[in-house]
Amino acid sequence: MTETQRAPIPFLDLKAQQARIAVDLRRRIDAVLAHCQFVMGPEVAELEAALAKFCGARHCVGVSSGTDALQIALMAEGIGRGDAVFLPAFTYTATAEVPLVLGATPVFVDVDPRTFQIDPAHLEQRIAAVRAGGTLTPRALIGVDLFGQPADWPALSAIARRENLFTIDDLAQSFGGSLHGQMLGSQADATATSFFPSKPLGAYGDGGALFTESDERAALFRSLRTHGEGPTRYEVLRTGMNGRLDSMQAAILLSKLTVFPEELAAREKIARYYDSRLGNAVTIPARVPNSTSAWAIYAILLKDGADRDAVQAKLRADGVPTAIYYPRPLHLQPAYRTAHDGVALPVSEDLAGRILALPIHPDLDDVAVERICDAVLVAVG
Ligand SMILES: *Cc1c(COP(=O)(O)O)cnc(C)c1O
Repeated sequence: MTETQRAPIPFLDLKAQQARIAVDLRRRIDAVLAHCQFVMGPEVAELEAALAKFCGARHCVGVSSGTDALQIALMAEGIGRGDAVFLPAFTYTATAEVPLVLGATPVFVDVDPRTFQIDPAHLEQRIAAVRAGGTLTPRALIGVDLFGQPADWPALSAIARRENLFTIDDLAQSFGGSLHGQMLGSQADATATSFFPSKPLGAYGDGGALFTESDERAALFRSLRTHGEGPTRYEVLRTGMNGRLDSMQAAILLSKLTVFPEELAAREKIARYYDSRLGNAVTIPARVPNSTSAWAIYAILLKDGADRDAVQAKLRADGVPTAIYYPRPLHLQPAYRTAHDGVALPVSEDLAGRILALPIHPDLDDVAVERICDAVLVAVG
């Protein structure tokens, strides 16, 4: 084997992406340097309009991160002490952190063993248990679109309507995905996404956005992201936060948005190739029916009892990086254990022990993808 064949494959290649958009990127960054309106400059409104158009949402409000987007959505709804916020246990920590920061209680729900998305049947059980308990008021559901695919929004929305729950779509990993022919962004009362650099549409720093169909909610989001500001500056109507997006990140995102559709197509092609090569050796990710994925993460499941550490080590030796999303479900995290009612969430617990993410990014060429598959087949064989 030659040295280049063994050279490590990057898990994510932001340098190669930067080279593809270099000219446009430089032009937009220079424009920000020229006008010096570094926070909430003209690029922010331009980006908001472009993102709303891209995903077919009525309003887009650019904010400082995906976490802050979730927080603003809950603040706008007045969610706090005594309120139960239902969310999947198998997700990134931010989803559970935000209700706790606001004094609310996260209620962890198990996920579907095939799609890894929040399990609507278990959600119903969890809501019934909270109502029976009598100490918390069921107020909101944060449905996470995990790894690029949508949660089961038709089922979740029906439950939320019946139970009178405010719905938030945590779209941090799945901006660019679709459900029933519709881009994700308007499935819930509010949608929060993230532009953290490793997300499918990533900035060069922190950033996020909120989407909503409601004019009132959009106005509230705008006020809350700027310290609860009223129609005139230095008029403070409510307790808000510093949740603004900066112009440089908006400029970078505008540039990245020009190549985003072709990047989504490149990720899809890689996912299909992985499916075709790996489907007999490991469990490949099940597709949510009638959806497309943004492929933030391509996660396989190793067989029960497989030595994941050994598989990872073998792959690393072959120059193939892998990652584990997530090694511990949130209800078992030290920080969240006391907020959790102690219910076992067996699917989340099982997935945490067997899941393994392979590289999937638009600058991964055919040779690298083939090499990854060869290495995986040997490592699990
Ligand atoms: C990344 C992520 C967030 C948080 O986004 P930040 O921009 O990093 O604050 C929230 N939820 C999920 C599911 C995420 O993957």
